[in-house]
Amino acid sequence: MKKFYNEFLKIYGKSDKNISLYFCPGRVNLIGEHIDYNGGKVLPAALSIGIYGFIREREDNLIKVISMNIPNSIKIDIKSDLFFNKEDGWGNYIKGIIKYLKEDNFNIKGFDILLYSTLPDSSGLSSSAALEVLMGFMFLDMSDYKNIDKKYLSMLGKKVENKFLGINSGIMDQFSVAFGKKDNAILLNTDKLDYTYIPTNFGDYRLMILNTNKKRGLGESKYNERRKECEEALNIIQEHKKIEHLCQADIEDLEYLKDEKVLFKRAKHVIKENKRVYKSIEALNNNNNIKFFGEILNKSHESLKNDYEVTGKYLDCIVSIAQSHESCIGSRMTGAGFGGCAIALIDKKNINEFKNFVNRNYFDEMGLKCEIYEIKIEDGVKKLC
Ligand code: ADP
Ligand code: MG
Repeated sequence: MKKFYNEFLKIYGKSDKNISLYFCPGRVNLIGEHIDYNGGKVLPAALSIGIYGFIREREDNLIKVISMNIPNSIKIDIKSDLFFNKEDGWGNYIKGIIKYLKEDNFNIKGFDILLYSTLPDSSGLSSSAALEVLMGFMFLDMSDYKNIDKKYLSMLGKKVENKFLGINSGIMDQFSVAFGKKDNAILLNTDKLDYTYIPTNFGDYRLMILNTNKKRGLGESKYNERRKECEEALNIIQEHKKIEHLCQADIEDLEYLKDEKVLFKRAKHVIKENKRVYKSIEALNNNNNIKFFGEILNKSHESLKNDYEVTGKYLDCIVSIAQSHESCIGSRMTGAGFGGCAIALIDKKNINEFKNFVNRNYFDEMGLKCEIYEIKIEDGVKKLC
């Protein structure tokens, strides 16, 4: 980190104000994929990789941000009206956060900021949520607001994505990176924002992230399409049964969808994935049955591939290579799908061997290099020093 501290001084020069350092992690969703918008609970966890923010107060009303990872920089006058501008790229996330903080009557100071990230962006590990929550937290903490409300911060980040950038996304990402807790996943109801922590002791196994290095191209249009299909499936079931969300349907209710092949498959995934969340909690909580949890991960991937059809060839390839290795007890795609990352639980004795095996075979099959990280589950957004 010393290197980036020096870089900060090189870029912004010396001043008598202190430089503070903040961190916001990325997240993975362990299980419960594509059910958050169907009334189901998700089980995300904050990661040991994320975005670091070096920040120092300025004497004027400017906020300047430079990112070491993604070219571009942004200079924002806090007092001016802020609008989305495509050319500002990632600067729009920052503008959105400032705009809505101002609307909520927070008085934000001027700052110089340098960002450094250990989290791959656009890979389904929620770098956008990490950026939003980091910014919101830094701005408030550095502007002398204490007891920062993390629910507010999560909703602020979501609002920036939905209203400022026009991206149709839920609140899981922001909530996970704000509320993360070391060695715990978060069982979260995204409608009501109630949550409990579930300890994640993987015993002799380690959680790995497999990045396909295939950016999620189709992601958003397919996400919207799946949401619509789920609504249609729900409408049909509701003609027969009083339920509010698709996750409240039972497997027997699929009978009502037997003439709608596509809707049948989508609903089947949702209903079964919802059950897998509860089975996973049992496996993690009560008897710490990690092998059973691994099997659930495999089933989740199969369902996302065959019934929900959101995996795509890169994720299918990396997951099937991972699953074929003897030290892997479970693997599945995580996030919205169509590229991005998968997770795998690997026997800690064979991590290097597993990495070499997946690297080699994935490159042979897809002609693309993947990245594999061993991941720890860590706390959410915080000030480091
Ligand atoms: P994900 O959240 O899965 O990583 P998104 O497409 O939602 O993918 O968000 C990625 C975007 O977030 C990037 O294109 C960029 O605009 C912004 N971003 C992420 N990390 C950084 C960073 N370190 N510096 C600047 N912008 C970043
Ligand atoms: Mg995102």
